[in-house]
Amino acid sequence: MQVAEGKLVYPGDKLGTHEEWMPGEGTYEEDGVIYSKVLGKVKYDEDKLEAIVEAVNPVSSVGIGDVVYGTIRDKRSSMATMTINVIEGRSRSVRTDLDGTIHISKMSDDYVDSVEAVFLKGDIVRAKVLQMDPSVQLSTMGKNFGVVRGYCFNCRRPMERKGNLLYCESCDRRETRKLSKLYGKIKMKSK
Ligand SMILES: [Zn+2]
Repeated sequence: MQVAEGKLVYPGDKLGTHEEWMPGEGTYEEDGVIYSKVLGKVKYDEDKLEAIVEAVNPVSSVGIGDVVYGTIRDKRSSMATMTINVIEGRSRSVRTDLDGTIHISKMSDDYVDSVEAVFLKGDIVRAKVLQMDPSVQLSTMGKNFGVVRGYCFNCRRPMERKGNLLYCESCDRRETRKLSKLYGKIKMKSK
C-alpha cells in the first residue's frame, strides 16, 4: 500500500506501513502504520526511505466569504483573536493554525460595549472571513455566527444555553456571550 507521490493528504490519512517507509517530516507512526500529520503533499525520499508530507500553506486554503470555526485565543479592548481550526463545507476538516481578528464592531449586530461580554478565551466560534490581506479579519455578526460552544469561566466545563445566556449547572453560574443560533448543535471532534 502506498499513496501516490504528489497527492494531497489530510491529517490522519494513511500513507503506508512501517515495512515500506520510515516516518519522515510531516508524518507520524502508530502501530506500524504511517499517517500524515499535516495537510500537504506526499513525497518519498528514496535515499532515506522516508515518507514525507510537505505542508501546504493553510492561508491559501482559506478565502474571503469562507465560514470558519476557531478558538478564541486572546482579547483586547476592541478586538478578539481567534485561531482558525476548521473551514466549513470542505469535504474534510482542514486544520490550520491561521489567526484571525474579530473587531468589536464586527462581533454583533447589536452595539458591543465590552469584548468581555461577548467572548471568553477558549470559546469555539463560528465566523465569516471578511478579509485576508494584510491581516485576516473575521465577523460574527448575524444570528448563525458567534459562540457555538462556551466553557464556564469557573470550572471550564461546556455550558448549556439558557435563553440568551450560558449556564453552568455545577457552578450555578450564568455568563453572557454573542451566541450563534447553532449553539450546542454542532458536533465537535475532540482534539
Ligand atoms: Zn462551572
